Amino acid sequence: MLSNSLVELDRKHLIHPVSSFRGHEARGVRVLRSAKGAQVTDAEGHTLIDGFAGLWCVNAGYGHESIVAAAADQMRKLPYATGYFDLGAEAPIRLAAELAERSPGDLDHIYFTLGGSDAVDSTIRFVRYYWHARGEPQRDQFISVEQGYHGSTSAGAGLTALPGFHEGFGIPYSWQHKISSHYVYRNPVGPEPQAIIDASVAELRAKVAEIGEERVAAFYLEPIQGSGGVLVPPTGWVKAMRDVCSELGILFIADEVITGFGRTGPLFACEEEGIVPDLMTTAKGLTSGYVPMGAVFMREHVYQTIADGAGAKAVGHGFTYSAHPVSAAVALEVLALYEGGLLENGRTMGARLMEGLRSLADHPLVGDVRGRGMLAAVELVSDKAARTPLPASLQPATRLFDRAWDAGLIVRSFPQGIFGYAPPLCCTADEIDQIVERTRTVLDQTL
Ligand code: PLP
Repeated sequence: MLSNSLVELDRKHLIHPVSSFRGHEARGVRVLRSAKGAQVTDAEGHTLIDGFAGLWCVNAGYGHESIVAAAADQMRKLPYATGYFDLGAEAPIRLAAELAERSPGDLDHIYFTLGGSDAVDSTIRFVRYYWHARGEPQRDQFISVEQGYHGSTSAGAGLTALPGFHEGFGIPYSWQHKISSHYVYRNPVGPEPQAIIDASVAELRAKVAEIGEERVAAFYLEPIQGSGGVLVPPTGWVKAMRDVCSELGILFIADEVITGFGRTGPLFACEEEGIVPDLMTTAKGLTSGYVPMGAVFMREHVYQTIADGAGAKAVGHGFTYSAHPVSAAVALEVLALYEGGLLENGRTMGARLMEGLRSLADHPLVGDVRGRGMLAAVELVSDKAARTPLPASLQPATRLFDRAWDAGLIVRSFPQGIFGYAPPLCCTADEIDQIVERTRTVLDQTL
């Protein structure tokens, strides 16, 4: 009953993010009511395993009383403090210091946002400011990677390389360029890691030459491409791209909005390649989705250049809710939980998840199984040898999502027939095994 009236109100009034306005109207919303650990319960009382941690964000899992207490304490004490006028609050200052201590290299300066999209957008502005401050304002061209996702603000959506975010919006803009993804399973140069790395290095160099070396401001990548279908590059690919940027004097920006905060094993995925980006964006796992927050990490040389360029002037970039004290208090508690055992559990469970999903590899519908840590994908095909994607008639995104839901599992179902997994790091071994078994059930039903 409650659910039916909510479905009607939802249809009439709520615009959902990245949803078909009409499709959503027809099908109706599924209302979630409560959650604990890695499990969510809907309005009808069905309990499901959340194999996608909300939207790859609830890394700590649901229902941590200590996080609730941290938010409530902060709200009681000081629910808001602006960072404007050189004011501040204790929680964001402490959080910035804690993050700086744990970040790769000298990514020691932190700018807080409300989420990932505005973190990326902030980097675009900081990068432009940086080059102005260096006396090279003509460096206004940006490069990113096909299949990449960098949010959906009007500027960031053009760094994103997914057609649904461009069509009808008049983007990407002429200053936004792309190179091909590494997409190992479908790379035209084949699956051999070094061949893929060499091809990407050559393509990035060629793209920079085409634009003009003195015009290129920055290059963006995700250490693992998330929304493009969980595309894991060969080991060494990220470092190779970093090296090209260093050699050509281009700022290198790692978008760790998904991969940050334990999703792939370490706190940040860049650590696995031993690299330090010039700027790094994070969000999601920073507060584990309990409240909105993102963070831009800035290296010393970027910070000092901007500071020198601005002199006594204010750098005109900021939001009312930058460095929100309640979000910061939550993030501090989430960080303590990660280090109190969640990162470790995530690593153990990530290995179990990968092993389990790999056991599906001989299923007739499974073309590829890939992932790292608690971030994984199973790519479905109708013909394994030819790697033929599932037929469009199967309407994979909705049909597969629905089937998984009916099997008691929430997973991301990408339109091209890919299941994406990003379970909370708190998952138990039994929950991981259930994620795999319920996937097998869906695959068998789809044969
Ligand atoms: N960057 C990456 C790599 C993402 O995956 C996302 C969201 O999924 C974003 C940026 C945008 O973050 P948000 O949705 O918090 O604005």
